[in-house]
Amino acid sequence: MKQSDVVISGGGMVGLTLALALARGGLKVVAVDALAPEQTVTADFDGRVSALAYAVVRMMQALELWPRLEANAQPIREILVSDGAIGRAASPFSLHFDAEEVGAESLGHIVENRHIRAALHAAAAQETNLTLIAPATVAALRVEPAGVIARLSDGREIKATLAVAADGRDSRLRGQMGIGVIGWSYPQTGIVATVHHARPHKGVAYEHFLPSGPFAILPMTGDRSSLVWTEAASKAPAMLALDDADFDAEVAARFGAHLGENEVVGSRWSYPLKFHLARDYVRPRFALAGDCAHGIHPIAGQGLNLGLKDVAALAETLLDAARLGQDIGALDVLKRYERWRRFDSFTLAASTDALNRLFSNDIAPLRHLRDLGLGLADAFGPARRFFMRHAGGDIGKLPRLMKGEPA
Ligand SMILES: Cc1cc2nc3c(=O)[nH]c(=O)nc-3n(C[C@H](O)[C@H](O)[C@H](O)COP(=O)(O)OP(=O)(O)OC[C@H]3O[C@@H](n4cnc5c(N)ncnc54)[C@H](O)[C@@H]3O)c2cc1C
Repeated sequence: MKQSDVVISGGGMVGLTLALALARGGLKVVAVDALAPEQTVTADFDGRVSALAYAVVRMMQALELWPRLEANAQPIREILVSDGAIGRAASPFSLHFDAEEVGAESLGHIVENRHIRAALHAAAAQETNLTLIAPATVAALRVEPAGVIARLSDGREIKATLAVAADGRDSRLRGQMGIGVIGWSYPQTGIVATVHHARPHKGVAYEHFLPSGPFAILPMTGDRSSLVWTEAASKAPAMLALDDADFDAEVAARFGAHLGENEVVGSRWSYPLKFHLARDYVRPRFALAGDCAHGIHPIAGQGLNLGLKDVAALAETLLDAARLGQDIGALDVLKRYERWRRFDSFTLAASTDALNRLFSNDIAPLRHLRDLGLGLADAFGPARRFFMRHAGGDIGKLPRLMKGEPA
């Protein structure tokens, strides 16, 4: 039986970052993932990118991951938010965020998820305190007074002081530990594709609100952008089935002509969009992190940022307890983490849900109201700067890692 301080179910972007932070802090960690690492780092795996808030970039720097990511990270210099409909000119009211206004070089970075996973796997391989077991799953978890025993799908057993579930939104372990979720499906599908532009995008990200949902254009390295196109679930299959020329034409109708001709490159992906929040984040000797604890609409590109804030807060809580000689699996220690993260996650989840409801329709009075809101927010400097700080993750009680300090 293998012995460790923490066993983590799920070695995705959240699980492996947590494993790394805890191992660097001196704890022995075993992370278990259902997929072999080499499966998750190819261009064809999920086609997704993440908009990393600048607080998350500071965390990546503190964990010495940034040098592995920087060359593939596109700084976001500006964000333009507008409201419109296909065939109708965009509303004259729009919202413009500029990194220069807050004296920053960027408002965050766009990185392909495959590069984040590759950087994490490379760093994990060099960490003596960290063992990644993949492919395998945690088949059963037994909680005892002094520890947990995780039985893996390959029959191996791991004894630890604490188990963490970071195995995504459909976590079975969360249910097995008696933690319920509240949630619903959005009548929307997220279509993801990459486009290559004729003209340089200069690091500008666009969020164009259309009646079926937001159409986000996220700048990537090499004059490419990632499209996160929220479409009515009833229409998405037809869009996905179009041949390349017709798909390009649908993209062009929503994209606009400001970057010249755009060509969709590579595959298209689709994701059913759901909202969920776990009723509790902890049990004795058990904690949740990332999408396992909360799943939010991608309208603001904040899901991973939220999960990485869980990581920073949980790592700090556990390492502080360990340094004081406390039991890292004790409920009172884990409750500190829950109190720190639950309200913040709820607030962000609720506000992204409200934003999606406010913008994903073509009801005229609502349209006028939200356009007025965009115009007012744009005209009022403190509001603009507040939104920029919020999007950058610089809000609330920041864990040490997110200030760029060791956990
Ligand atoms: C279209 C779209 C666009 C998005 N854009 C952004 C963005 O721009 N910025 C942002 O911050 N967020 C974004 N998100 C959200 C972000 O992708 C998620 O929040 C993030 O992937 C959550 O990471 P995670 O590690 O918690 O979960 P996951 O990415 O789901 O990883 C879970 C891991 O657990 C493993 N696993 C699953 N089951 C088991 C098991 N039983 N045992 C062991 N391992 C298991 C899986 O193999 C996987 O490696 C977007 C989401 C969508 C759908």
